[in-house]
Amino acid sequence: MTTLIKNAKIIVGDGSFIENGNILFDKDKILKIGKEEYKADKVIDGTGKTVLPGFIDCHVHAGFIPFPWTDEEVKNQDEITVAMRAVSQAKSFFKSGITTIRSVGSGHDVDVRLRELIKKGEIQAPRIFAAGRPICITSGHCCDIGIEVDTVGEALKAARTLCKKKVDWIKLMPTSGVIGVGPSTNVQLSNEQIKAICDVGRAFDTPTCAHIMNYNALIECVEAGLTCVEHGYDMDDKVANMMVDKGTWYIPTAVVTLYESMYMDESNPMKEKAAQAQIRVRNALKVAISNNVKMAVGTDSGCPYTNPDTYAFAKELYLYTISGMSEMDTLVCATKKGAELLGIDDIVGTLEEGKIADIVVINGDPLQDINNTKNVEYTYRGGELVYKSLN
Ligand SMILES: [Zn+2]
Repeated sequence: MTTLIKNAKIIVGDGSFIENGNILFDKDKILKIGKEEYKADKVIDGTGKTVLPGFIDCHVHAGFIPFPWTDEEVKNQDEITVAMRAVSQAKSFFKSGITTIRSVGSGHDVDVRLRELIKKGEIQAPRIFAAGRPICITSGHCCDIGIEVDTVGEALKAARTLCKKKVDWIKLMPTSGVIGVGPSTNVQLSNEQIKAICDVGRAFDTPTCAHIMNYNALIECVEAGLTCVEHGYDMDDKVANMMVDKGTWYIPTAVVTLYESMYMDESNPMKEKAAQAQIRVRNALKVAISNNVKMAVGTDSGCPYTNPDTYAFAKELYLYTISGMSEMDTLVCATKKGAELLGIDDIVGTLEEGKIADIVVINGDPLQDINNTKNVEYTYRGGELVYKSLN
């Protein structure tokens, strides 16, 4: 079956767009893009709408507990419950126009298993790039789901074990975080452990990404050859330049601490930590943009207030635009750059003939107002309609 969306603004994903364009696709691929009339089994009038490549959320946590949670729930995360949460969450991304996700830290390696079921077509959800369990220190950030390591030898063993399980990425937790006890800036993994894990990544051809909320840990990770910095608080021009020289990627996830600082109860100590973190990440975001650090987009979905009903992905894009990035460049980050980070830019990330038809249709023009990315009308994954707005 072929579908034609006609007379829409088509944002290609590479920085260009077609006004009043037509796009024809089937379940295998995008067949035609241009201004000519094409015949199709199903025709959708795209007047007033914008067609974009399916969005890519490069920082999510599959199977996290929906907030608010109890200490008991955090401590006792059994495999079946985590798996069911992961499936439900994965399907929900379509509502935000997201067709590919990178899961960077999940209990029981649930994302690795979910990835395989999605590939086989047993579960309809975005394609997943999975990091499995994150590597942390005993009692450190995300220790309830992670692999706890306290020596270089244990770090090597954990990283190699993840590679044996065929993760797509290795996730490490060099510092503490907003979630968990104590300040979010404490250094946790040692420099030697960070270096050992990055070395394993290179040896097994597996990219590495790290949760970083401390300046020294940021420098250590970039020097160790980390592939992608997550959060990256306190980035300054010096580190940004190092990242540009080394080709290090950056995913700020600015929206999560914005929402936590806005919506948490006053009585929750996370609220103040999130407010402090928000100031630092917003500064890092500006520094990264002004220095042209390679960036894609991530929401930290799974953390509090990041489900699709809060429009976390659209809000993250908005935060890019008020930090100095143009609307068009922001949309390139949300599509093509995400595909580049994940090594799939030959098949998705831009709307081109022959590519997989991962497509999102929104009401309005995001180049006029980036908040229009909230208004997802249709999401297609591999040419199949997987979400349709009831509005
Ligand atoms: Zn995260």
